[in-house]
Amino acid sequence: MSGKERRTPLLSVLVVVLAFLLTPLTAAAQTRIKAPRNFFGIKSDVEAGREAARESEREARIVHDREVTYYVERIGQRLVAALPEEFRHPEFRYIFKVIDNKDINAFALPGGWVYVNRGMIEAARNEGELAGVMAHEISHVALRHGTAQVSKAYPWLIGLSIASAVMGNGKAAQIAELGGAVALQLYFLKFSRSYETQADILGSQIMARAGYDPTDLADVFRLIESREGNGGPGWLRSHPKPKDRYERINQEIALLRVNPYPVENNVELSRIQARLGRSRF
Ligand SMILES: [Zn+2]
Repeated sequence: MSGKERRTPLLSVLVVVLAFLLTPLTAAAQTRIKAPRNFFGIKSDVEAGREAARESEREARIVHDREVTYYVERIGQRLVAALPEEFRHPEFRYIFKVIDNKDINAFALPGGWVYVNRGMIEAARNEGELAGVMAHEISHVALRHGTAQVSKAYPWLIGLSIASAVMGNGKAAQIAELGGAVALQLYFLKFSRSYETQADILGSQIMARAGYDPTDLADVFRLIESREGNGGPGWLRSHPKPKDRYERINQEIALLRVNPYPVENNVELSRIQARLGRSRF
């Protein structure tokens, strides 16, 4: 009896403490992201990505420098490890490469191929800005935006192949072939506004989970705005407007637990920037 009496206050203290700890989490939970509808199996991402990667690497000049590549790879894998469970696809293998191009740009292909321009690394004012752009690209891959985009055109593509089967003549086959080519092109089209916003939000979330400060991703949009006048950087120019994206990311940050001592690692970044500056690849 007396033992029970002693236990009760302890329990109530625990309940109060737990309630205190849990309240801020439930009151301000981070935005729940839902991957868009996708008619394709996971394997399609990997196959389409591999094909597109082969194509892209034929056109672009890849920086073959072990230190530079390893640096980008290390940031990328740290972010990938912070992806929420539901967006981890064991079939995906994330590969990070640097392209010898001065534009502030980065892009990703379905299945895990992520490319960062040297211009992006050189423009970054801290490692978080570079990590932010990469987190955004990783989010497009994890949410399968490439194949989701093609899924939007899918009813139309099915229509084409039915037409070609029914007509069975050369002209219809040509049209169907065109449909396939269009599907491939869609991977490279600009993503819709909602996909960009999703990638910004999930990107901010994985940054926070990986120990970075997502404010750095928001700041990239300030950087983009400031450079917009003189030719401007290519990365995500446009929609939604950089200013809106900056604001939306900051709204999300208010809901996130951000490490008070975020990863900065600027010595390493400066070293890599100097290395890029000295080298011609
Ligand atoms: Zn994007």
